[in-house]
Amino acid sequence: MKWLMKKCSSCGRYSLRSDRCPACGGELVVPHPPRFSPHDKYLSYRYSLKKEKGLL
Ligand SMILES: [Zn+2]
Repeated sequence: MKWLMKKCSSCGRYSLRSDRCPACGGELVVPHPPRFSPHDKYLSYRYSLKKEKGLL
């Protein structure tokens, strides 16, 4: 899953936009750089298991 939210480096608001902050026009940055961690891997593994069993 891709992280879509961006954070304004000027006012700190979160936005789904990718160009400018809708509130103040400041620069938007990715608050959490997308990184593949063992933890995320484990979560997506459990998610797919649930999906297979029809629990989701
Ligand atoms: Zn802003």
